Amino acid sequence: MTTDPQTMPVHLASDWRSLTAYIEATHERQPVPCRSGEIVEVHYWTSGKPVESVLAAQACAHCPIKAACRVYGIKHPAEAGIYGGMGPKQRKAVAKLSTDLPPSTTNPN
Ligand code: SF4
Repeated sequence: MTTDPQTMPVHLASDWRSLTAYIEATHERQPVPCRSGEIVEVHYWTSGKPVESVLAAQACAHCPIKAACRVYGIKHPAEAGIYGGMGPKQRKAVAKLSTDLPPSTTNPN
């Protein structure tokens, strides 16, 4: 999950900077798997090789900010790589599912 904010659309770059800042701040206190490489190698998150992607996704289970990362990944499903334990196909499916839900199920209040 590495991307160049210089070439991103503005709204995406803003979200990316926020997520990256959160990752870095968290990683100073406790390991974030895709930064530390303690569980699997860091490049597995973006390699695109099925076995490495699965291992990276499994390593996300140990991440202290998995939920926030997953929200970013679902909000930006076209981004390559693993976010919050999910690959692009999974994130696109969840994003589509959430847009297909009737309004009454998306806003319970
Ligand atoms: S959930 Fe996975 S991809 Fe996201 S910050 Fe944590 S380790 Fe990295």
